[in-house]
Amino acid sequence: MLGYTITLAKPLKMSEMKWMGYFDEASKSIMCYKVAGYGWISVLAHEFRHLEQCAANIKVWREFQDAHAKTPIMELIFKPHFNKRIHFNPKYSQRDIISFIDKWAAMERDCEVKTIKLLKEFKIPVDLVNYAKEVNLFLYRCEYLKYHNVWPSFYTKNKKTKYRIYSKALSLCADKIIPKPKSIPDELEVIFEKLIRERDQ
Ligand SMILES: [Zn+2]
Repeated sequence: MLGYTITLAKPLKMSEMKWMGYFDEASKSIMCYKVAGYGWISVLAHEFRHLEQCAANIKVWREFQDAHAKTPIMELIFKPHFNKRIHFNPKYSQRDIISFIDKWAAMERDCEVKTIKLLKEFKIPVDLVNYAKEVNLFLYRCEYLKYHNVWPSFYTKNKKTKYRIYSKALSLCADKIIPKPKSIPDELEVIFEKLIRERDQ
């Protein structure tokens, strides 16, 4: 598309990592980082779908932008808190925070459904069952964040991913993208709680 730029960048250090990629509306650009163990091409496909959401100015995109303007807490969520409680600015009500997370999750879900279609269409060798499970895990984590102000993280401070527990969490997620979850499966909630209990001090 005319006027848009795409940049593929080197991997970030874990301490700097907030995103694997992003689409920036103001500069009309996609940034895609190489992250070990993760297909950069699916990150690129995902960010491209955000670009399309923006270019077509669809409802989920607009609603997220409005929520973001009203409650700009995105940066804070993805600071490496490693399972510590996030202290949102008290000027934002819990209702606004919940609304922001709902709009964010809805926008990402829409994007991911379209990303899977794109990856299928171009026969990109990405494990789409695993991909859908990861999307569902993200949706459940959003639900958890809404009521606990903690983003359940599978990373630890010493930069290791808890792969075993991550695989277990993924195994509890459906292999097709679910609608907005009404609740978190019990077993998954137990995992989230364990991550928080056993976080780095
Ligand atoms: Zn996204």
